[in-house]
Amino acid sequence: MRTAICPGSFDPITLGHLNIIRRASKIFDQVVVCIMKNSSKTAPMFTIEERTDMVRRACVRYENVRVESSDILLAEYARRFENPVIVKGLRAASDFEYEFQMDLINKNINPSLETMFLTASGKYTFLSSSVVREMAKYGADLTGLVPSELISEIEQKAKQWGKNNG
Ligand code: ADP
Repeated sequence: MRTAICPGSFDPITLGHLNIIRRASKIFDQVVVCIMKNSSKTAPMFTIEERTDMVRRACVRYENVRVESSDILLAEYARRFENPVIVKGLRAASDFEYEFQMDLINKNINPSLETMFLTASGKYTFLSSSVVREMAKYGADLTGLVPSELISEIEQKAKQWGKNNG
């Protein structure tokens, strides 16, 4: 059984993330979306529990996708699966440089761990969680950027988060 691991912060999940997860779910037997706790990013908008819950709700329609969270290194986390492949989305050349480095680091820890890249869908190449956070902070319309069922809670949270993060 081939498992795709789609890791990330998902703070919050966007339609760009969901596009990669959906495409991976067609290629692999199962997809595990892993919400990473130990991100170097400071002041996340959503807690790890909130992010996990939101990703679960967004992915409920995909039968072979499950959602977990982890506070250990990705290369160590991947050891619990039989045939894991890390699947990531590539938006631009800048993503590639970072991801290439991450792959080298992961292989250093876990040499058999492969990473595969899916090119971002053209309509989501500009989209990132930070774009969503910024737009939400200023009250912009999030339609077409994040799963529709999550819009109101992202808006609510952004109001509070904006007050605390300038
Ligand atoms: P990180 O916190 O590691 O930057 P993110 O949660 O932002 O992770 O994203 C997780 C993964 O999803 C990364 O591989 C990233 O390249 C990919 N990704 C993010 N946004 C998009 C998008 N709009 N289209 C395709 N892939 C994306």
